[in-house]
Amino acid sequence: MKSSPSEGLLDLVEQLKSKSNLVILTGAGVSAESGIPTFRDAQEGLWSEYNPEDLASPAGFRKNPKLVFDWYAWRRSVVLKSLPNMTHQILADWTNKFPNLTLITQNVDGLHQSAGSKGVIEMHGNIHRLVCCNKRHPSPWIDGNGEVPRCEKCNSLLRPDIVWFGEMLNNGVMSEINKALKQCDLFIAIGTSGVVYPAAGFLEKVKVSGAFTAIINKEKFPFGTADVQLEGLSSQILSVLNDKI
Ligand code: NAD
Repeated sequence: MKSSPSEGLLDLVEQLKSKSNLVILTGAGVSAESGIPTFRDAQEGLWSEYNPEDLASPAGFRKNPKLVFDWYAWRRSVVLKSLPNMTHQILADWTNKFPNLTLITQNVDGLHQSAGSKGVIEMHGNIHRLVCCNKRHPSPWIDGNGEVPRCEKCNSLLRPDIVWFGEMLNNGVMSEINKALKQCDLFIAIGTSGVVYPAAGFLEKVKVSGAFTAIINKEKFPFGTADVQLEGLSSQILSVLNDKI
């Protein structure tokens, strides 16, 4: 691990210039500068009295679907007012610059796609969709005043198309991720606290196969250690990197 930030930055620039199979994992931190609360921030204010598992779990949804929908309606209203920031834009440019870049996001806000990134792997789903019986529907839910819509096939309540606490990732998504991790020679995690599995395990997984690893985060890294660790706002660090590659 490099001790000086500028040494680490230059090292990462060299890696970006020389490696070909790049995997970038993003978390809530990359959307924080668009005004979308990170997971920790989203538990504050209005919703601080609730346990996250009551708001984002199958059991919580069974117990109180309206509460869950209201929470998602609030989060979605925030997302709908937000725009992609510099991090999303640079990563969208990189999807053109690096033909073998796989962008995996834990975010459900769709901002990578709004910035123009193609082929984004949305590990945890998308807040703009509802789902039931394997069919996705656009979410009509914005202000929380309406009825929770029902599935036309089975008449159950439609649920947000989000992977909740205690749920497994879709097999197809997981096999796409595993394929990218297996081939990866440069892995960069940006704006994630690394507490939510399986994403939290990707860094160790790629290290075993010899990939170069980097973490970019606003604060110290609870995520394990990487070859390069850069502390600061993702938009600032990515802008510097982008100017040098
Ligand atoms: P997290 O909230 O646990 O961690 C975010 C990390 O980003 C923190 O370590 C924080 O220090 C860092 N950070 C904040 N602002 C930053 C910035 N400008 N630049 C760089 N780093 C910054 O988020 P997580 O690790 O993604 O895991 C939480 C779960 O919550 C995920 O499953 C995610 O799907 C979900 N979530 C998604 C969104 C979204 O879609 N935007 C928002 C909140 C939570």
